[in-house]
Amino acid sequence: METRFTRSNWWDDYVHDGKNLCYGVIDYTKDTIEISTLYAESTQFTTFLHEILHGIDEFLGIKLEEEQIDKLARGLAMLILDNPDLFEDQNWVWEVVEDGKEEDNEFQE
Ligand SMILES: [Zn+2]
Repeated sequence: METRFTRSNWWDDYVHDGKNLCYGVIDYTKDTIEISTLYAESTQFTTFLHEILHGIDEFLGIKLEEEQIDKLARGLAMLILDNPDLFEDQNWVWEVVEDGKEEDNEFQE
């Protein structure tokens, strides 16, 4: 799963899902997430997490409700914003990330 991420702040280029103006939108066919910069950065960050959770939900077929996605995104945003050093000082996290990359490469060979 590789998703491209863009932020849009052009007045004539509002982020929309085809029906409504949105804080952000994920496009499952293009593997893109677009976040509007018309709102506060904390809102953009929570929206980014919200759209990521939609992607995970879709990828894994969990079928979360919109309200559940919203609450999980807000919870994750609170956790990350209240603990900016959460992953920075955790070397084991980055070791797991590096090991995961090697395992992915082995899997593709
Ligand atoms: Zn949503």
